Amino acid sequence: MELLFTGGRVLTIDPLDRIASGVAVRDGRIIAVGDSDEVRSAVGPDAMTVDLQGRALIPGFCDPHNHFSMTTFEPRSVDCHTPPLAGKSSVLDALAAAADGSPDGQWIWGLGYSTRDIGGTGEEMLLRHELDDVAPNNPVCVMDSSYHACYANSAAMALVGINRDMPNPRGGEILKDGSGEPNGVLWERAMDPVHHASMRSYIDTFGSDVVAGLVEQNALRHLSHGITSVGDALVMPESAEIYRLTDERGKLPIVIHQMRGGPGFFAAPEEAAGGAFMEDDVSDRLRGGIVKIFMDPVWPSPAMTICHEDGTTEPVGEPYYGQEEVDHLVLDAASHGLQVAIHCIGNRAVEQGLNAFERAQREIPRSDPRYRIEHFAFATPEQIARASSLGVIISHQPPFLNAIGEYFETRIAEAGLDAVPIPYRSMLDEGVFVASGSDFPCAPVEPLLGLYGLVARTARDGRPVAADQAITPLKALRTYTLNSATAMFREHEVGSIEVGKRADLVVLSHDPTLVAPTYISEIVVQQTYVDGQLEYMV
Ligand SMILES: [Zn+2]
Repeated sequence: MELLFTGGRVLTIDPLDRIASGVAVRDGRIIAVGDSDEVRSAVGPDAMTVDLQGRALIPGFCDPHNHFSMTTFEPRSVDCHTPPLAGKSSVLDALAAAADGSPDGQWIWGLGYSTRDIGGTGEEMLLRHELDDVAPNNPVCVMDSSYHACYANSAAMALVGINRDMPNPRGGEILKDGSGEPNGVLWERAMDPVHHASMRSYIDTFGSDVVAGLVEQNALRHLSHGITSVGDALVMPESAEIYRLTDERGKLPIVIHQMRGGPGFFAAPEEAAGGAFMEDDVSDRLRGGIVKIFMDPVWPSPAMTICHEDGTTEPVGEPYYGQEEVDHLVLDAASHGLQVAIHCIGNRAVEQGLNAFERAQREIPRSDPRYRIEHFAFATPEQIARASSLGVIISHQPPFLNAIGEYFETRIAEAGLDAVPIPYRSMLDEGVFVASGSDFPCAPVEPLLGLYGLVARTARDGRPVAADQAITPLKALRTYTLNSATAMFREHEVGSIEVGKRADLVVLSHDPTLVAPTYISEIVVQQTYVDGQLEYMV
C-alpha cells in the first residue's frame, strides 16, 4: 500500500528542521521526503494521493504523560465538570440521576469535579453525607479534577474498610468531621483503596468487550487531536489489564507506553520492580518498561523549600519518600535496566529526584538511562542547570499554562522563589532535554493548545504568563514530537518525518509556523495517520 502527500508544508522536525512539500509512504513507512515532484517518483501510479493544498503535515504528536486509563471510563461516568454544570448542587443532582438508573451496589464514578473551578475555598468539597443522600444504595467515588483527591460516600468507604479508626496513610489524609468520622474527602494516598476498588469493579461489571470498546473510543478521541502515541503516566495492574485485553482484540489504534506504578494510584512500585508486572513490550502497540514514582503531593502543599523575606528558608509539605527511600527505589529499577520517571512538583521534591538520579548514575552507571522528572513545576534556575548537567529529561505539560498559569504565578510568589512558571526558554537555553505532554485529564489534552501556550504565553483569561519564556513554534513542536518520542525510547521509530520512520502523520488546517501565535489554538487537526493508515478525518 502506497501513499503520497504533495503540495504541503511538511514540517519534518529532522536535524535541520527542513520544510519539505511532499512525503511518500509504503507499507506504513516513510520512503521519501522532499519536493512534491521528487517524492512522486518514489511510488507507483496507484499510490493514494493526498493533495495538501498548502496545509501543514507534521509528525504525530507523542504525549509522554497522559492518564489515558483514567479517562477511558468517562462515557460510563458522571460528568461533574463545572461548567457546564452550574455548581455543587447540580453535580449532586447529576449523581442522583445516575444512582437512580443504576442497579444497587454498582459503583458510580464522577469525573471532572474541580473545587478550583468553583472557588477553591474548600467549602465546595463533596461530603460523605451529601453523597449518601443522593446515592444511598451505590458506592460513589467522585475524583477531583486534580486526581489528587476523591470524594466517597459511606458505601464506598465501607467496601474498602475506611472508618474512624483507620490511621492516615503516609502521604495521604482521611479528612474527619467534628465527631471523628471520615467526612468522605480522601486526599492523595488515602484515595488509593477507593480508586483501586472502583476501577476493578468497573472492569468486572462491564466485561472485556465493553472495556476494549471504551479504550478504542478513547484512542480515537486522542487521534482526533493528532496524538498517535501516549505514555500512560500511571498504570496499575487494572490499567495494564484493560490495555492487554484491548490489544488482544486488535483494537489499539495508537501506541500506549505503560508507566508502571504499584497496586494503587500513588502506591510505591517497589514490589513491582523486576517482577512480572514490569515485563517489556507486550506488543507493537502496547509497550512497557518505565517505572513511575510519585515524589510529592499537590494538596495541601507540594514538597517545597520556601524563602522568607528575611532570607531564611523553611520546608513545607511532606514528600512521599525520604531521600534514602527514593534512592533505593531508583537503584532497584536501575539494577533491572528500567527507565524511571519521577513526579516532582515542589522544588524540594525536584531536589530529591535529581539527587536520586545522580546517585543511581554513580552507583549503577548506564550509558543512556533517560531518567525523567515529570512536571518540574516549581524548579529553580539552579535545578534547571542541574537537570541539564545530569542529562535528566524534563517531561512538562504546557496545557497547564493555559489552564492554571495564574496558579503557578501565585504559588511561586507566595513561596518567595526565584522561579518562573513553565520555563521553556530557560530550560532550552540551558540545554535541558524537554518533552511536552498533557497530563490529561488534569490539564487539557490538545497539543495545539499547549503549542499555543508555549508560543503565545497567555493564560485562559488572556493574561501573559512569563512572556519572555516564549519559544518559536518549531521549537515547541519538536518538544511535542521528537523529544517526546525520545522520552519514550521511540525516536528511531517516530517523532519526525524522515525516511525509514513509521508514517505517523497529521494534517493540520494551517501551518503553526506561519499563523499569528494567538491563532495556533484555532488550528484544526484534519487527518491523523498511524503506520500509514488513515485513522481519523474531520
Ligand atoms: Zn500526571
